[in-house]
Amino acid sequence: MVLRKDMFDLPEGVIYLDGNSLGALPRAAAARAQTVILDEWGQSLIRAWNSAGWMALPQTVGDRIAGLIGAQPGSVATGDTLSIKVFQALAAALRMRPDRRVILSDSGNFPSDLYMAQGLIATIGKGHELRTPAPEDVAAAIDDSVAAVMLTHVDYRTGRLHDMAAISARARAVGAVMIWDLAHSAGALPLDIAGSGAEFAVGCSYKYLNGGPGAPAFIYARPDIAETVQPALSGWLGHEAPFAMEPDYRPARAAERLRVGTPPIVQLAILDAALDVWDGVDMAELRAASIALSERFIAEVEARCPALVLASPRDPAQRGSQVSFAFEHGYAAIQALIAEGVIGDFRAPDIMRFGFTPLYLDEADVVAAAKVLERVIAERLWDNPKFRTRARVT
Ligand SMILES: *Cc1c(COP(=O)(O)O)cnc(C)c1O
Repeated sequence: MVLRKDMFDLPEGVIYLDGNSLGALPRAAAARAQTVILDEWGQSLIRAWNSAGWMALPQTVGDRIAGLIGAQPGSVATGDTLSIKVFQALAAALRMRPDRRVILSDSGNFPSDLYMAQGLIATIGKGHELRTPAPEDVAAAIDDSVAAVMLTHVDYRTGRLHDMAAISARARAVGAVMIWDLAHSAGALPLDIAGSGAEFAVGCSYKYLNGGPGAPAFIYARPDIAETVQPALSGWLGHEAPFAMEPDYRPARAAERLRVGTPPIVQLAILDAALDVWDGVDMAELRAASIALSERFIAEVEARCPALVLASPRDPAQRGSQVSFAFEHGYAAIQALIAEGVIGDFRAPDIMRFGFTPLYLDEADVVAAAKVLERVIAERLWDNPKFRTRARVT
């Protein structure tokens, strides 16, 4: 059984189908935040870096995330935000292939990943090119002009899943560096990053890993190449000996060199506590539960809401842990749904998006959510001016 609702502090009367965007609050995380702020920071002050083990926290948490993504201990560094980790992985990859000029991604990738690539290309100024074919055309576009293949495993908009093993093998065959973004994969499905052979993987911890808003990101570097990586953001905490205060940068060992500055201790402590909910979770069981929930939701919604068109792959083996429907009035419909206690989200231009988190959602929740959605659509509850004004976050 993977359901452990009791470990989460969910608001009464809310069905939360947005854990793919911001995971729910684990009860232990709130308690840990209180301790780290009041006892450790408040009472121990700067002594807590040593006495409360703050300095070890980035690595402890990195090893716990490694366990969830199929990576080796010591191969995952934590900190910063995902956008920064994308930049670091890509910058390192381009230095590893100095005579190639193509970064291959896909047109469905999350904008920030593409923006970071564009910014890096402009900063380097060596005429690199970012190619973004349709997701289904990526594999065929991997040739020996490609320096780095940079893909998000699960498409944030449609939930479409790339074939990690096949694409990684194709990249390796032509000598391209493989970078996987696991933002919508970590904590959502079983992963074998080590087995994929990819050089780098990155991800965030505030989605399925429930680390809270702005929680630290992570970066994996394949152990056999990690010590050759030349970090573009060579900050002091990625230095071999930060407190030697040497004038020249020397990279720390392995993935630790991909750390940059002072770790966000409060967020790391919250994440560390949030990761406790994964103890004893079998990822294959979690995946089976996620598929059962999403299949049930699709069946209910298609039977109840004929105006909504499935925008995710129909085959659950081709999907991550989210389901999207296209609807012309999607934004207003999501706002009306939220007003009725069912939280999903909207992604432009017309996508209503629902995430499935089997740790704190069960079948009764998804059926109840589909019934509310039916009411919102059938009774045109969305057709109300107050649901049409777009907020800053959709
Ligand atoms: C959520 C997400 C991001 C967000 O990056 P931040 O730097 O954490 O804001 C980036 N890329 C992908 C693929 C995402 O899903």
